Amino acid sequence: MGIDALLGFAPALVARSRWQRVSNETRQRMGTISQCTPDLLLETNLEGVITFASERAIHVLGYDSFALLGQSIRDLAEGPVPILDGPPPDGQTMITWNTRWHHASGTGTYLTTVLTSMGSREHPRGLRGVVRDQQDRVETERALRESEERFRAALNTARNGIMLVANDGHVLLSNDALRRLLGRTELEMSALTVADVVPGRYVDQFAALMASRMWSDAVPRQYELQLQAANGTPLDVEITLSPVREDGRDTGTLIEVHDLTESRRTSETIRRMADYDRLTGLPNRDLFDRHVQRALIDARYQGRSVAVLMLDLDRFKLINDTLGHTSGDRLLRTVAERLTSHVPPQHVMARFGGDEFLVLAPDLGGRAAAEGIARRVLAAFREPFEHDGHQMKLSVSIGVAVVGGEQADADLLIRIADAAMHQAKDQGRDGYVIGSESASDPARLRLELEGDLRAAVEHDQLEVYYQPQLDTETGVVLGVEALLRWRHPLRGLVSPAEFVPLLEETGLIIGVGETVLRWSTDGGQPVRVAVNVSPRQLLVPNFGAVVRGILEETGLPPHALELELTETAAILDLESVLGVLGELQALGVTTAIDDFGVGESWLVRLRDFPVHTLKVDRYFVSGITEPGNALAIVEAVIALGHALGLLVIAEGVETEAQLVALRAANCDMVQGFYYAPALESGDCVRYIEERSAA
Ligand code: C2E
Ligand code: CA
Ligand code: CA
Repeated sequence: MGIDALLGFAPALVARSRWQRVSNETRQRMGTISQCTPDLLLETNLEGVITFASERAIHVLGYDSFALLGQSIRDLAEGPVPILDGPPPDGQTMITWNTRWHHASGTGTYLTTVLTSMGSREHPRGLRGVVRDQQDRVETERALRESEERFRAALNTARNGIMLVANDGHVLLSNDALRRLLGRTELEMSALTVADVVPGRYVDQFAALMASRMWSDAVPRQYELQLQAANGTPLDVEITLSPVREDGRDTGTLIEVHDLTESRRTSETIRRMADYDRLTGLPNRDLFDRHVQRALIDARYQGRSVAVLMLDLDRFKLINDTLGHTSGDRLLRTVAERLTSHVPPQHVMARFGGDEFLVLAPDLGGRAAAEGIARRVLAAFREPFEHDGHQMKLSVSIGVAVVGGEQADADLLIRIADAAMHQAKDQGRDGYVIGSESASDPARLRLELEGDLRAAVEHDQLEVYYQPQLDTETGVVLGVEALLRWRHPLRGLVSPAEFVPLLEETGLIIGVGETVLRWSTDGGQPVRVAVNVSPRQLLVPNFGAVVRGILEETGLPPHALELELTETAAILDLESVLGVLGELQALGVTTAIDDFGVGESWLVRLRDFPVHTLKVDRYFVSGITEPGNALAIVEAVIALGHALGLLVIAEGVETEAQLVALRAANCDMVQGFYYAPALESGDCVRYIEERSAA
């Protein structure tokens, strides 16, 4: 039995004695090696009995090295042991063995062992194992990997571009934001130097910055310059350089890149928002003013003039209230587009707010040229507007201010144009007025009037007059039209043409209209009463009920009341108007279409609306005895009315000739100064009695 076989019998004992037998020198050397190496050294005999174990074994497997001696490697590690359990080793065999080792505590550890055979093929002695304690390394690697992943995630979350550049200019690291900005992949970036991402003319500057940052003693520095995207696009950026130090050594530069293109774009948007109207995209008042100032300076040098047109859509408030604001906004946008396409391109259009627009006509010959533009704008409104699947007829009132360069400023021009625009409204809308400086007073007048009017409504200063309506053939009074009068303490009788639009704008018309209805149905008049109804009133949700209530209160039979609807009612929401008209019809109240022929809208609605009377506008009646088409139009309207089974009344009959013509045209009734103006209630009753007696 050889010494090795003997070792197999009393392993621990023999190992110890063997250990004692090795020379001191060898022992020392082994001890040093086994202490220094992080690896675990093992030797076994051919049976797998451990004959040598290094110090590290104590820590890795939880044993004391002596306790390990004499134990079988088969008990310590799982699975067959290569070299011992495999084909006979050739003495040079080296095998890597991955397996689980049992820890003294009962737990297990995966370890990689490099096994080599000891002895020769002829005389194998056992094996030597170098066990890699991988656990530590795996742990460290995992921790490292995790921390690197965290670092990358953080880096890539950053909104600014970041790159780490080595001292030789090589890009060591870059983040997503930077790569997106430059349009490069991570791989491409890693092959670049900073010179590759800076446009040529900035390379020197950049190099100087990189050099100078060395002096900055770890203080970051900011610069604005350009970088260059992969496709060559220059990018305005702000960079911040910070030197990176590791262990006191300068190892590179951290460059943070802030994309200025984005913030420049934002400031451009902000600038646009400050200068342009959000809804229509047209310049706003501020920008318009600047254009006007410039135009005035130019005009001064050229001895020409500048015109500002103030446009206000007629009755838009009403449309807006009816359609709702979103729909109204859309309509405004359509109007803006229409205007833009009709106004010459060298003119500046702006939105003044609400339904008001401004046009600047720079470099003009004078007043006539300004009128030309006003007419162009009016012409732009001839065609109906396509809105939400409906055709909508709109008109506009225009105030024009024309000045030479010398006197004016933008403010004055707009003030004059504004006053002129209000005059245009007062003159019946859908037209223009050339303003003058002194005309800016009517604006103040109008404000005063509005205040006075409110007071008048409060203090019952409004009265109702009645104008007779007579049978064309017999001259018998068949009805009266109730017309509002305002006795102003200083100005005397103020025309409803002047204050009714104000009542409409302020909403006061709803209350006033009710009062007129109540007074007019109070039994004072022995004939049918026609009462004007503002579109605003029609929109009162319970208008039908209001009328019924008043009729019940006053006891007037419904057929003795006629309600006159103006043209505007035709452009209101069809459903609502139909609803109201249906209610009125059910009540037995009749309706008339006022000012027929002035607007085109009625013709469309005649088909749908249950109405009883057509009132031919004064404008046509005034022309029927003169050359022109007026007579033909009046005859056509009368024929149309009769064809539809309607009663036709001619308004504004002032002369006998007109009466004769209307008689010839088979007009049913007439109303006008020829017979009587609107009369105070008592006078009207007397007038009716006189005529029926005659
Ligand atoms: P309208 O409904 O067309 O009323 C007829 C207008 O023509 C009245 O003017 C009347 O005085 C005037 N007129 C009558 N005959 C002649 C004539 O032969 N020649 C001339 N040149 N004019 C004549 P007025 O009273 O100044 O009323 C103006 C407008 O004010 C009315 O026009 C009507 O739209 C509105 N209005 C008057 N009263 C009321 C009311 O109570 N409610 C509402 N919503 N509107 C009213
Ligand atoms: Ca009327
Ligand atoms: Ca009328």
